[in-house]
Amino acid sequence: MYQLPSPSAIRSLDAIGVLTSGGDAPGMNAAIRALVRTALNQGIKVYGIHRGYSGLLSDDMRRLYSGSVSNIIQRGGTILKSNRCEAFKDPLMRSQAAEVLKTNGIQALVCIGGDGTLTGAHWLACEHDIAVIGVPCTIDNDIHGTDDSIGFDTAVNTALGAIDRIRDTALSHERLFLVEVMGRDSGFLATQVGIACGAEMTLIPERKVDIGAIASTLASARRKGHGSSGIIVVAEGAEPGLTVRLADRLRQCGEEPRICILGHIQRGGSPSAHDRVLASCMGATAVNYLLAGSSDIMVAAVGRDLIAAPLADIIGRRKHDPRLYDLVMQLHK
Ligand code: ADP
Repeated sequence: MYQLPSPSAIRSLDAIGVLTSGGDAPGMNAAIRALVRTALNQGIKVYGIHRGYSGLLSDDMRRLYSGSVSNIIQRGGTILKSNRCEAFKDPLMRSQAAEVLKTNGIQALVCIGGDGTLTGAHWLACEHDIAVIGVPCTIDNDIHGTDDSIGFDTAVNTALGAIDRIRDTALSHERLFLVEVMGRDSGFLATQVGIACGAEMTLIPERKVDIGAIASTLASARRKGHGSSGIIVVAEGAEPGLTVRLADRLRQCGEEPRICILGHIQRGGSPSAHDRVLASCMGATAVNYLLAGSSDIMVAAVGRDLIAAPLADIIGRRKHDPRLYDLVMQLHK
């Protein structure tokens, strides 16, 4: 597992806040639990802020104790609820948020979420005298500067479990299945799922998709006596409406493809052991970085280490792994 940093404590903190924002991901609760218990062990009070940045703006928070985070490590979603809050993009609203934190005696904030959440965290840290730490948590694993993010492993395994079942039917009925997986505009989830399920094809936004070429490849495979069944993994962000258009084109070629859109099933569910441990390590490390005087950073997984990555270097940048994209393409039949 990950090598934890051991920063020395130089800052004294009376109270910190924690929120979850943006798309929920399995493991958020494990991160909250680790953060709360680590902080309490250091004599720091913890406030759980409800519904992300909107709860911060409306002063919707409650004290968290050790018992508040009992029996949540195995639960998907987030006990703090999550939300999207357009208003937080306005600097005036962030000033209001900083005021809410100060009024409650909260000196530092940990923001658990994806790229958007980390962007909000960065601006809050830049504009106000509040220490802010980001914890990367998204099933898309599309955050620049960290190899891993909480929830990704679980989502890959959830999609994989579904596709393994779909493949049984695909084989029995000698049919093609187009399985659409999440990932917004990133192909990381689809790439990992495509490799792990042995997909016949994986279509991702990072690689050009040519529907005509796909249809003729599949037709020629069928002529050669193989390719009658199979799984094509389609990233939701590959192209708008791609799954349906591809299915239509395949029908014109005599195939009878079936579409399965996995959708939100990939977000929920019990976090994998990997995500529980990663979230526990990151949640605890966020508190330790706050005590070490850090702010405006994200707890990042790089290789086997957890490190402090400046948020300014992360936000607005796209993460890519061309070698992995090449691999999934090479493994096509
Ligand atoms: P995720 O964190 O999963 O990427 P979103 O992109 O929806 O999800 O972002 C979550 C929230 O983060 C937004 O609703 C908003 O409150 C905040 N946020 C996103 N982008 C910005 C920004 N540019 N400035 C300030 N806050 C932002």
